Amino acid sequence: MRRMAGPTLLLTHEAMIEHDPGPGHPERPERLQAVLKRLKSFQDADVCWAQPTPASREAIERVHRPHYVDQLETLRGRRAALDIDTAVSPASLQAAYLASGAAIDAVTAVVAGRARRAFALVRPPGHHAESDRAMGFCLFNNIAIAAAHARASLGCRRIAIIDFDVHHGNGTQQAFYADADVLYISTHRWGIYPGTGSTREIGAAKGQGFNVNVPLPEGFGDGEYNAVFGSILVPVVDAFEPDLLLVSAGFDSHRDDPLGGMAVTEAGFGSMCATLCQLADRHAGGRIALVLEGGYDLQALAASVAACVDVLRAQKPPAPRPSSHAAGEVAEVIEKVCSVHRLYWPV
Ligand SMILES: [Zn+2]
Repeated sequence: MRRMAGPTLLLTHEAMIEHDPGPGHPERPERLQAVLKRLKSFQDADVCWAQPTPASREAIERVHRPHYVDQLETLRGRRAALDIDTAVSPASLQAAYLASGAAIDAVTAVVAGRARRAFALVRPPGHHAESDRAMGFCLFNNIAIAAAHARASLGCRRIAIIDFDVHHGNGTQQAFYADADVLYISTHRWGIYPGTGSTREIGAAKGQGFNVNVPLPEGFGDGEYNAVFGSILVPVVDAFEPDLLLVSAGFDSHRDDPLGGMAVTEAGFGSMCATLCQLADRHAGGRIALVLEGGYDLQALAASVAACVDVLRAQKPPAPRPSSHAAGEVAEVIEKVCSVHRLYWPV
């Protein structure tokens, strides 16, 4: 990767557009094309663009079992179905290695101080991929691989992974479930794919309390997410004091998304991103890297990514929409999480 001096690094590669899970699939090549088209105008001094290098096998195997990587390798250059909604095309393996490589390059750049903040604009997404299986459109768990790399090779000790994709990141949870040095916090809609992510999944052994699931009811939007962030996410991350923040940035909780059933607007995503940047500034010397996950309405996805990039390059986000749910309902959702995690965190 070229040496970058700009404050916000955007990483992407056209080869990731070539990954094609098949006709009619929501995780389609047009997603990344729409994002890149929207960001084309972001060429000023605040933003640097770079192409990632593919992740090494060693980096991938910090999260995935060798036999799983071998199994994927046998599919290089072929078309195959891996599970009911995850498939590879001839170019998918290359895209998957580049997606993980982009996440690694993003954390490398922010830790080395070559960029203040970074966003890996990738596909396939990663947070459902488990140690030995592809799941939910995901082949390699890009963000988990980047976190493992940051610890193994970059000297990071405490990493917070925030996942605001509408789906629970079962693969990321699994990767660090018994680990007290990687805090995983997920906000997700309850009752949809992949079915994991209950408040009772709190981590195991030394990692107890370091896995914070915030299942949400259908229809939550900007105001409700804002309340959840303020009451749970901010105090937990403040107490954890990470030296690096990573974000599984999925935009399928947008109100126009065909899969999510939530009501977040692009301003809401900008506001969440601003909160996360403030946490990074407070604890991690500003070091924050976002990695793209879901988001299946092309316009909503592109606008939401742009809103986050605007915040990364220090633009003030537009005001999010106020809560449309009864305060009591939101408080009840928050209390359910707090009642479990009060044992571990000042929530
Ligand atoms: Zn998702």
